[in-house]
Amino acid sequence: MTKYIFVTGGVTSSLGKGIIAASLAKLLQARGYRTTIQKFDPYINVDPGTLNPYEHGECYVTEDGAETDLDLGHYERFLNTYTSQANNVTTGRIYQYVINKEREGAYLGKTVQVIPHITDEIKRRMMLLGKDNKYDIVITELGGTVGDIESLPYVEAVRQMKWEMGDENALVVHLTLIPYLKAAKELKTKPTQHSVKMMSEHGLNPDVLVCRTEEPLYKDLKRKIALFCNVTQDAVIEALDADTIYGVPLEMMRERLDEICLQKLNLPKGTEPDLSKWKEFLNKLRYPKSKVTIGLIGKYVELQDAYKSILEALIHAGAMNECKVEVRNIHSELLTPENAIEKLHNLDAILVAPGFGSRGIEGKIHAIRYARENKIPFFGICLGMQMACVEFARNVLGMSKAHSTEMNPDTTESVISMMEEQKNITQMGGTMRLGSYDCELTPDSKASSIYGSTHITERHRHRYEFNNEFYDAFEKAGMVPVGKNPKTGLVEIVEVPSHPFYVGVQFHPEYKSTVENPHPLFVAFVKAAKEAQERRNGHSHMVYQNSVAEG
Ligand code: GLN
Repeated sequence: MTKYIFVTGGVTSSLGKGIIAASLAKLLQARGYRTTIQKFDPYINVDPGTLNPYEHGECYVTEDGAETDLDLGHYERFLNTYTSQANNVTTGRIYQYVINKEREGAYLGKTVQVIPHITDEIKRRMMLLGKDNKYDIVITELGGTVGDIESLPYVEAVRQMKWEMGDENALVVHLTLIPYLKAAKELKTKPTQHSVKMMSEHGLNPDVLVCRTEEPLYKDLKRKIALFCNVTQDAVIEALDADTIYGVPLEMMRERLDEICLQKLNLPKGTEPDLSKWKEFLNKLRYPKSKVTIGLIGKYVELQDAYKSILEALIHAGAMNECKVEVRNIHSELLTPENAIEKLHNLDAILVAPGFGSRGIEGKIHAIRYARENKIPFFGICLGMQMACVEFARNVLGMSKAHSTEMNPDTTESVISMMEEQKNITQMGGTMRLGSYDCELTPDSKASSIYGSTHITERHRHRYEFNNEFYDAFEKAGMVPVGKNPKTGLVEIVEVPSHPFYVGVQFHPEYKSTVENPHPLFVAFVKAAKEAQERRNGHSHMVYQNSVAEG
């Protein structure tokens, strides 16, 4: 029978529930348990796809094309397995389903209410992944903080599940904060006591407390927390601030979080976790042999979470190259031809980010031009690739009006235009070209040598595409489409072979990079940045000359 672990949060948001949940899942997976994680978000949006990154950080896209919470990215990066639409549920989705059923007459004669109809639907979805005996353990992270009005139906659903299944089949891990008051030189347990009390007012008691803290929790303090929060003493887990999120699974193992959960679920300890690959990665991450600086050009750069998967993919790729990747955030809105040199001249590589709408577009185009003309390694993702095509059309092909019809619907030189199947769509949510698609690569391209294959699949999230009317003109002038969708002919990758590293991709490779499988394009990009730095330092001038000559 599948067992359930619920991860709730108290005191404040941003305590890293997603990382704790993913770390626990990693450890259980490493002990041989088939484990998955899902996230339940209490907002009314049906999915986060329509949310601005300022509101909600990055929108993470799964293989099956679901637009989901960025925590699913952590789950995939930690577990090295795919998630799907079923792994992310929002209040909006629950209500939509219940209301549709009501309209169909499924509850005929009954008043449809939060309890039991909404809570029943929450429970059904919480157990969905546990059906068919696919998993031994399903971890459910509850978004928001216990005590929020909108979280109440979820807390009630968990309470009911615990009552129905028994404590040894449904476990609550509550993540909380033990603040350190500098002036008093003391760790304070009161906020945690209050948050547990608030939970128990709703009939739910946590089984395990994971305490975020800046200072170690001494034994007596753990005892005090256990006593006042009604958990066993070994179930008070210290979660000290970590230097990297990838260190957290090992910290949680040291604190025996996995063992305590298994004990409470009445499950054997399983095999000793073999985290050697993980540790090897951590070692490389912590002790890099070199350092590169990569410019990230985007319009949300001031917001850490907006480009989460890209930043994580760069971390994975950096470790693979035993090289620290310092990301320099460059706001595309503030980039002009006048200040481009000043802002970009000491970068080892330039990455132009995905995005929507006109804001900051010209800045992205300046950065791309700078990278192309100065032979700085360039990686353009989705909108970054589209703007690379616009830049090339304007400055190499002499098409001064070249643009994407997203930014200029009336342009006569629409090198990027709306996909045919998108033209009659009126609804915004979930209607882009989403999820995994096949791509065939030209055999002698840089991309095919990086992937080591001519057939790949990658995830998408866009409405616009390269306009194949201009295919030949681009190819002749030196920007070559080297990746295509075999069914539709849509261009998925462009390269400039005469450049040391110039790759634009219509898809989002960042979603598929994991600790154990860093994405080959990111790995190659960081390697190219290292080489560019060496060239600049004059170490391997010849290599540069050769690669230019080859191109
Ligand atoms: N706005 C562009 C499109 O819709 C690119 C999207 C993206 O970068 N994800 O095609």
